[in-house]
Amino acid sequence: NSKTKTFHSLRPPIKLPPEQLPSTVTAHSLSLQATSPWPDSVALIDSATGQKITYPELIHMINSLAFYLKTVIKLSKGDTAFVLSTNSVQVHILYLALLSIGVIVSPANPLNTVSEISRQIELSNPVIAFALSSTIHKLPKLRYGTILIDSPEFNSAMQKKPRFNDQDIDRVEVNQSNLAAIMYSSGTTGKVKAVMLTHRNLISVITGYYSVKEVNKAASVVLHTMPLFHVFGFFYFIKSVALSETLVVMGRFDIEKTVKAVEYFRVQRLATAPPVVVAMLKGGVTEGFDMSSLEWVGCGGAPLGEDVIAAFTEKFPNVLLTQGYGLTESGGGVFGFVGREACQRWGSVGKLAAYCEAKIVEPKTGEALPPCKQGELWLKGPCIMKGYAADPEATSATLVSDGWLRTGDLCYIDEEGFMFVVDRLKELIKYKGYQVAPVELEQLLQSHPQISDAAVIPYPDEEAGEIPMAFVSRQPQSSLSEAEIMDFVAKQVAPYKKIRRVAFIDSIPKNPAGKILRKELRKIAIPSAVPS
Ligand code: AMP
Repeated sequence: NSKTKTFHSLRPPIKLPPEQLPSTVTAHSLSLQATSPWPDSVALIDSATGQKITYPELIHMINSLAFYLKTVIKLSKGDTAFVLSTNSVQVHILYLALLSIGVIVSPANPLNTVSEISRQIELSNPVIAFALSSTIHKLPKLRYGTILIDSPEFNSAMQKKPRFNDQDIDRVEVNQSNLAAIMYSSGTTGKVKAVMLTHRNLISVITGYYSVKEVNKAASVVLHTMPLFHVFGFFYFIKSVALSETLVVMGRFDIEKTVKAVEYFRVQRLATAPPVVVAMLKGGVTEGFDMSSLEWVGCGGAPLGEDVIAAFTEKFPNVLLTQGYGLTESGGGVFGFVGREACQRWGSVGKLAAYCEAKIVEPKTGEALPPCKQGELWLKGPCIMKGYAADPEATSATLVSDGWLRTGDLCYIDEEGFMFVVDRLKELIKYKGYQVAPVELEQLLQSHPQISDAAVIPYPDEEAGEIPMAFVSRQPQSSLSEAEIMDFVAKQVAPYKKIRRVAFIDSIPKNPAGKILRKELRKIAIPSAVPS
């Protein structure tokens, strides 16, 4: 629309269920939506053991666990459950069981430190936690305690064999406006925030997948390498169940195990992040393995270089590699490709989803820009988060004028609706697709007695995409070394947030208001990367 400069989706419109109807994201309705040939289609395969769970078994296990959580543990609709675990079949079932009784799923990275977790818990206010024997020590005491996912108690609550008639279970009616998940993101600035995502958000995303299903023909066997505590892993998993795909479940990501699983389970579709695509090109990881089942690799969460796409396509000519774009705050992917569209625009992240609107906004003036002009991407639609829990200030800074979400990404959309991500305006580093907030590391560095000032920026890295790099100004007479600085930070943060490069500087460049001039620092660190 040239007048308002709002970009509407070029995809065929989709119809979402009226908002007043109950949520369809429950075990019961997912089972009704499942369209695979019944009764034996496989829902989940544990890649480590080869154990298979069919759709009817999955539905029963979800119901069985939901029954236990509701009647024995006494969880009720509107409660929040914190989840601290690596991916497993159990966690997949747990998520669906919680959603089916209206309990809000709040998953966090199990690598996070005790203080990072306690801040997340402060924001989301869970009544119960689900953890592993290896992560339980990081959790505070919650009202209903912590349940171990890797315990016999949990496994028996989730048993396959019918203990009761599924039809006898009291259904919990969940409204679409009820929260489905609280996920963690640093947003466009500063520290961690708790992103509130509703059942309506999930429904819009799932309905979007349904609408392109005919063209994008649901594959029977899929593997997602993304963790379930990230929006990409979470929403993609729900989508897979809703589309009755067979999902190969892998624990903590491992490139060799991934390649072996592709061969062994004849995986057709692989959803992943850029470092995995880069790894598949390197060091003969795929050599000697039969990758011929692979038809599609979908990549998101961080930028994928055009050179990587070209090299991948040369190595795997029969595999279509496409990118998608989204944020935790937008319920995951809002730009993507359908069918072989990606071949028309390598380097693009695709076209806007049917249920979304977008604007490209001049960051300084707030003016909406026409096609092909670069500006900040704003998004609007039923997939956009409700806000940040317990943080009205951050919510109103991010969800502006009439519900538009400011993404903090510098982008443009071409005349045919393909979007390109040019740069990041927000203060965010993406290490292997994981979020690292520079401010958090800067505050830690500044707390060191021998550091007078510090700034952290993303530094390009072939394997990780970006690594956190610190510019440090030492106190006079200090001989603090790079290694000591890295070690100081490493002891206090999750491993993916570690400082991996240090440069010393006399003073940190700042504007008159005291704001760090990160662009200046990026110019010093990578002179060729930043246009002046
Ligand atoms: P998260 O909330 O962790 O998913 O992070 C969202 C951010 O990741 C976005 O705002 C972008 O900065 C970045 N991002 C996600 N997908 C892409 C992509 N395909 N290309 C470039 N950046 C991306």
